[in-house]
Amino acid sequence: MTEIKLFCPATIANLSCGFDVLGLCLDNAGDEMIVRKVTQKGIRITKITGADLPLETEKNVSGVAAVAMLEAYERDFEPITVGFEIEIYKHIKAGSGIGSSAASSAGAVFGINELLGRPYSRKDLVQFAMQGEKLASGNAHADNVAPALLGGFTLVRSYSPLDIIRIDSPEELFATVVHPQIELKTSDARSVLKQTVSLKSAIMQWGNVGGLIAGLYTKDYDLIGRSLHDEIVEPLRSVLIPGFDLIKQTALENGALGSGISGSGPSIFALSRGKETADKIAKAMSEVYENMNLPYEIHVSKINPDGVRIL
Ligand code: ADP
Repeated sequence: MTEIKLFCPATIANLSCGFDVLGLCLDNAGDEMIVRKVTQKGIRITKITGADLPLETEKNVSGVAAVAMLEAYERDFEPITVGFEIEIYKHIKAGSGIGSSAASSAGAVFGINELLGRPYSRKDLVQFAMQGEKLASGNAHADNVAPALLGGFTLVRSYSPLDIIRIDSPEELFATVVHPQIELKTSDARSVLKQTVSLKSAIMQWGNVGGLIAGLYTKDYDLIGRSLHDEIVEPLRSVLIPGFDLIKQTALENGALGSGISGSGPSIFALSRGKETADKIAKAMSEVYENMNLPYEIHVSKINPDGVRIL
């Protein structure tokens, strides 16, 4: 095998109470990528469609993640005698809050791993994809690349040592994600955060994180809904997203289990039981932004149990 075509899924990080630790993988929103093994050594990004992103290996998250992986391969196994070309077909807008950079980082390392005969597990690949995230945001975070590679829900229990737990999603869980077409820089979304939290907020937050994890394991949709609250970040960040309160209220009134900011925004997600409810929420959210004359994109997706996949 010298070439593979991949689906590189979008992801929702944070999930209300799970700020910086939880994420989930979407099924029908994502990019495509072709990874090709060639005789010329090194990593080259030969084509990008759908977005104005750098082709230079060291400026594109897919290139940075791929280089991190090849360096590790040479340490762990043997010198590399081949090279790789990457083509990226973008469908997820950068800066949307649904893991655009993570999709490219995850796809690159997954594809190269397949073409090398699968020396690493999907979980091993997370640390390499994280290097792409470091380029995108200055921080080697795993809350988008982990679900993009592993599928389902993921919990980053610890970074040092890296400890990622994958959690199956209850079958009927669906996500609705709306992306208002405004620019919200990750740096601005970060700058509104406070560096300390009150004990009272912290207690509520870890109660909800525990509840959400328990709800996922026991497939208790009501418990999942009761736990989807964010005491700490949402109140500070939501003011940066036009119509946030109304979108969230609309989602809840239309049957959502919970709703909150996707990643660092501006996308807003809702989780619900069953596709019918998720579609109803999408329609109601769309009406809100249409009434505000704000362009938007919307996705309804089941939770992707597999992560990146070969097409
Ligand atoms: P999102 O909020 O959707 O996760 P990110 O903030 O993770 O988006 O990533 C966007 C940043 O990463 C932008 O500055 C973009 O230029 C940079 N970037 C570099 N390479 C890529 C790539 N292949 N795909 C997406 N973004 C990339």
